[in-house]
Amino acid sequence: MVAKLSENITSLGNGIRSGAEYLEGLNDGRDVWLEGQRVADVTQHQGLRRGAETLAGFMDKQADPKHKKIVTFEENGRDIPMSFMIPKSKEDIVKRGAAFYEWATWSNGIFGRTPDYKNASIMAFTAAAKFLEEGKVEFAENMRRYYQYAATHDKVLTHSLLNPTVSFAEAKAGRSSADVTLKVVKENDAGIFVTGARLLATLGPQADEVEVFPSTLLDRQKDEHLEYAFAFMAPVNSPGLRMICRDSYDHGKSHYDAPLASRYEEMDAIVTFKNVFVPWERIFIYREPLLCNRAFAETNAVTQMMHQVICGKLAKAEFIVGLLCAMAKASGKDKDMAIKGHIAEAMFITETIRALRFSAEQHAHEDEYGNFIPLRQPLDTSRNLFPKMYPRLIELVQLLGSSSLMATPSELDLSNEISDDVTQYFQLLNLESKDRIALFRLAHDLSVSGFGGRQTLYERFFFGPPNVMASIYYDLYNKDEMIDRVTTLISQA
Ligand SMILES: Cc1cc2nc3c(=O)[nH]c(=O)nc-3n(C[C@H](O)[C@H](O)[C@H](O)COP(=O)(O)OP(=O)(O)OC[C@H]3O[C@@H](n4cnc5c(N)ncnc54)[C@H](O)[C@@H]3O)c2cc1C
Repeated sequence: MVAKLSENITSLGNGIRSGAEYLEGLNDGRDVWLEGQRVADVTQHQGLRRGAETLAGFMDKQADPKHKKIVTFEENGRDIPMSFMIPKSKEDIVKRGAAFYEWATWSNGIFGRTPDYKNASIMAFTAAAKFLEEGKVEFAENMRRYYQYAATHDKVLTHSLLNPTVSFAEAKAGRSSADVTLKVVKENDAGIFVTGARLLATLGPQADEVEVFPSTLLDRQKDEHLEYAFAFMAPVNSPGLRMICRDSYDHGKSHYDAPLASRYEEMDAIVTFKNVFVPWERIFIYREPLLCNRAFAETNAVTQMMHQVICGKLAKAEFIVGLLCAMAKASGKDKDMAIKGHIAEAMFITETIRALRFSAEQHAHEDEYGNFIPLRQPLDTSRNLFPKMYPRLIELVQLLGSSSLMATPSELDLSNEISDDVTQYFQLLNLESKDRIALFRLAHDLSVSGFGGRQTLYERFFFGPPNVMASIYYDLYNKDEMIDRVTTLISQA
């Protein structure tokens, strides 16, 4: 394992990378801990390897002519991921949506943290770099330069935006825990040094760089909280940066036995920093709590990220409809009116997400920086609804699957001494045993397995605390005209 020096961010790359280049970059001496041990090389570790390989396969697809025209754009002779394109028209928003959706279909939305998610955020912060000038003109320049670096090197980014909650009351009041929260401990002419923890980096161990931006509300009245107020990017192999992972759900099973966990293990990790050095060129906000609190909303980064998310959720919901229909068809349940109604509920959810995406894209508009953004409200509706809809989709899979989710012998049982029994007794009206088991193992992996449980938790929380997101939605909603109608009616009494 050789620690490589991270590139200077003024260097420009050649545009989209191959999967092999991405995988090679992960063996960089990073400090990743999984199930009690330091990981020597994430590209070789059973718990992390296949997730990274899946992403490498997606990186390769970017260069495939069939996909390239959808997921890339050309700039200065380079093919750049479409998620980095700064939209200047409604058509650009539609193109970005098509690219997000295309990426999502490669995993049917199961690999939630494809790089286009964070690319959307870096693009938005750059498109709105003027906002960062409120802190310092140089910070806006840093952002523009970093954008060029990430886009032309096709970097795979993760983020850890939240300060871990130690005391709920303190956290809600915007006060940080001095013992736990990531903070600046030293500053010099070259940059800053940070120590503490952030949560939670999905894909962290399999990413190149981590976005350490502000999303936790900071108490802006108190000067002593300035050391928590920053936004920067750090390479995952920065000395002193450590990723502490949850257990892996990739237990080395075959694609037949674990069709999802064997492919789409995007690890989640708490990120800790011990005196990590961050050069000034990688800093975008510094000692500005108010700017931190406004950053995601006022740069429209949250809207551009929600656009990526809704496209992914659409692909995922469509896949679950397909799964439910295939499950029902297997036994002939699809002829039953009640079952049709049951599956129709998943279709309603899918079509709701599709309509919200369509509305957001078709109502795209110019923002205050002269760029285009999708309409926020439909996206925000989806971001608040899907965390509630997804558990229902999973419940529908469980209700339809029932004991078939347990009638799931392993691939080996199709060729060992009990294979005759398995072949005979696991058949369904429209599926022979091998295909029935494969189908219901997929449903199991999505709705019952540890991998599936994490998927549900992810959908509930990855974009933020549900109560907080709903309260922001309430605040932004145009309520006055509706209230007027009520007051008008009662004033006529
Ligand atoms: C699988 C998974 C992947 C994730 N990936 C990432 C990632 O890649 N990057 C990243 O930065 N974060 C990530 N997160 C973190 C995610 O953003 C948080 O889990 C989410 O914001 C909730 O915060 P918390 O976990 O600290 O919950 P807590 O603060 O412990 O909150 C728990 C409960 O309290 C409620 N609550 C929290 N704050 C408030 C408040 N101020 N007012 C009222 N109610 C409140 C919440 O709704 C929730 O029900 C991920 C989370 C999960 C589960």
